Amino acid sequence: MESNGSRKPLPRLLVYFGRYRGRALAALAMMAAVSALTVVFLFLVNKLIDDALGAGASGTLTGFGKSPRAAAPLIAWLQRGYAAMRSAADHAGLPARLAVPLLLLATLVAKNVCSYFSEFALNGIGIAMVRDLRNDAYRQLLRKSARFYSQASTGDLLSRMLSDVEQIQSAFGTRLADFAQGVLTILLVLVYAFSLNPGLAFGVFVIAPIVLLPIVDNTRRLGKAAFSSRERIGGIGALLSETLRGHRVIKTYGVEEFEADRFAEANDRYFRVTRRTIRLQALNSPLMEVLAGIGLVGLFAYAGGQIEQGRMTVGGLVSFLAAIMMLYKPLKDVTKTNMALQIALSSARRIFELVDSETEIADKPDAVDLGAFSRAIRYEDVSFRYGDDWVLRNLDLTIRRGETVAIVGPSGAGKTTLVNLLPRLYDPTEGRITLDGVDLKDATLASLRRQIGIVTQDTILFDTSARENVAYGRPDAPEEAVRAAAAAAFADEFVDRLPEGYETRVGEDAGRLSGGQKQRLAIARALYKDAPILILDEATSQLDSESEALVSRALANLMEGRTTLVIAHRLSTVRRADRILVLDRGRLAESGTHAELLTRNGLYRRLHDMQFFVEKDEAAEARP
Ligand code: ADP
Repeated sequence: MESNGSRKPLPRLLVYFGRYRGRALAALAMMAAVSALTVVFLFLVNKLIDDALGAGASGTLTGFGKSPRAAAPLIAWLQRGYAAMRSAADHAGLPARLAVPLLLLATLVAKNVCSYFSEFALNGIGIAMVRDLRNDAYRQLLRKSARFYSQASTGDLLSRMLSDVEQIQSAFGTRLADFAQGVLTILLVLVYAFSLNPGLAFGVFVIAPIVLLPIVDNTRRLGKAAFSSRERIGGIGALLSETLRGHRVIKTYGVEEFEADRFAEANDRYFRVTRRTIRLQALNSPLMEVLAGIGLVGLFAYAGGQIEQGRMTVGGLVSFLAAIMMLYKPLKDVTKTNMALQIALSSARRIFELVDSETEIADKPDAVDLGAFSRAIRYEDVSFRYGDDWVLRNLDLTIRRGETVAIVGPSGAGKTTLVNLLPRLYDPTEGRITLDGVDLKDATLASLRRQIGIVTQDTILFDTSARENVAYGRPDAPEEAVRAAAAAAFADEFVDRLPEGYETRVGEDAGRLSGGQKQRLAIARALYKDAPILILDEATSQLDSESEALVSRALANLMEGRTTLVIAHRLSTVRRADRILVLDRGRLAESGTHAELLTRNGLYRRLHDMQFFVEKDEAAEARP
């Protein structure tokens, strides 16, 4: 599965995302509000300490103490808003110690309300995208050819449809939300911190990371050491399993000492690398504490000076520290995004690969509708191969309307392949198949497949009600028609006895149906479809004779008046067939009626004499 489109998954994902751009814009507006309110919150922390708790110099409204320089625009703006609020509160007789905390609370509530809506809106886009993507992928999946299904692994398909799609949801929902919110918040908070005190901000955001470099370095070395430690323990495991498997050789060669030395050496290597790991680990938190201590000392020394000079208030410092802490989550979120995006892109690539993989059997642009089948099906010099080996060779075959043709032959002869070509599950590699003279490749798939009913060897029941299994794909089927089909398939009487009758779920796990009952339901499904051409793959598994008889009679009802291709395993079927085709390694070995073929002493005769055909049900068959 390779395609051009799947190599550029991002633009295609964006198409899915783009359908919800209105919602995305709304979410973005909400996020901007969240970030702005975060800054307002920080500013109010400053005021809480200076004004409400009285830590600042009395009588001042600025965050800068008594001698404000020209305040940065952001701060000036916040100041104005704050001053307006305060004077309103003063009018209402509300003291600062109450007004500021209330304002803080209001900000907090507003911020979280916005956060709720933005989170909800963006995550909603994630799940909506995933719903659309999964629907599209499923539609494409249904159009794939039988070859695709026979080559694809179920596990792989499931993982593409489920977990890969899930990855995209998380990237475009949660992760994208966190990323956008994170970037906005980081920017605004940085602007705030620099506005509050540029020197302090410079120290913290530029110098501190350099001071913290040793920690980063230590963590990196720790990761490496942990990796090689795992490698070494793997080496020990390999040695051990060698010993377990080879203990007899070790003993007979008398090399216990040699092996013990080898083991000790590997064990020692593990010991050394693990010792390095624990040393680095032990270093980590002291290093962090000391460096953080140094940083804090620097910070407080500088801040103390600023406060003394009246360039900053205690509230300003606390607000500044709070701003640093507020950056922690957004920074973490933003750094996680790239990884999530990469994962989502590789998932998207796998999904688009599936979507784009060629659908080899599809309608031609000028395909015609086949009319109702009236004359004959012809295989004209048909050859077929799945891979390198020919499975069908130069097959010529005419099946007239109303005929029952039995196909017999050893397993692997190509019987299933032969019938699969008719509904175009596969196309012939060479030659062609016509229906009433029209090449199947020139007809629409729908008009062809409408004419064909199929009952396979392993009965497929879908996990829905008995009614929906009979009237498969026709949710509004009239009750009487379903009952009539079921009755003709001898299924009505047992379906009626099910706990909820026709509404009983009879899926794979329902287990309450016997093999014969399932087969009769499948026959009822084909009866309901009422297609003129029937493909039947007789079950080889034995049923008890009563079930056998019912299934046989149901099949007889089904075949009545239809053109039938049956892969036959029962003697009774071949006897009744108008014609028997004997396939041998992809070639048509013989054809004729049962009686003719028996006299010919060929492959059919040999198969017959080997008791190749199931005969057990003869007695039951004899009953009308
Ligand atoms: P029959 O129905 O007579 O047992 P089939 O038509 O199932 O024979 O198979 C004919 C040959 O084609 C066998 O050798 C089988 O292994 C091979 N074959 C069947 N289906 C596939 C497939 N999907 N891919 C590759 N080879 C296949």
